[in-house]
Amino acid sequence: MSFEGLSKESTDKRRTLLESIYLWEVVKGLAVTGRHLIHNIFHTGDMPTMQYPEEKRVYSERFRGRHRLMQREDGTPRCVACQMCSTYCPADCIHITAAESPDPAIEKYPAIFDIDLLRCVYCGLCEEACPCDAIRLDTGIYEIAADSREKFVVDKEFLLHNRTDGTR
Ligand code: SF4
Ligand code: SF4
Repeated sequence: MSFEGLSKESTDKRRTLLESIYLWEVVKGLAVTGRHLIHNIFHTGDMPTMQYPEEKRVYSERFRGRHRLMQREDGTPRCVACQMCSTYCPADCIHITAAESPDPAIEKYPAIFDIDLLRCVYCGLCEEACPCDAIRLDTGIYEIAADSREKFVVDKEFLLHNRTDGTR
């Protein structure tokens, strides 16, 4: 059938009076919605929805989740503030201020280590670039929420203690 034919067919179709005032169509639409509502109330097991937060989605093992900073045995950060991660980060969301370490065996430590989680694209390049295995994206945490933009910038203490309560 040609396009022209289709177009003519649709133009020729006359609306009935009931269709023209839409009332009957609205009633039919409400009936469909009501039918689904009643079905869903009595057949909750069939619904493709997840009862979050009681039910949590299981992500694949490859899913990374939010970052954490690794600690040495004495609780200090394993990070030596070399800036490799921030240099490689494509989103420019890692900000480190290096300071001289009180431990003569270690040259530097991060006095400040912030990550802006709103800019991060969770690519994992920071983890790959780190020569000290000091930063990992293996927490599996995907529930990242806060009520202001500033709270998505997580600091060293937050990352070291791997808090699980959203951002802060
Ligand atoms: S995961 Fe990627 S975007 Fe996020 S901080 Fe690391 S390097 Fe940057
Ligand atoms: S986390 Fe790793 S790559 Fe980043 S500054 Fe620290 S030691 Fe360097």
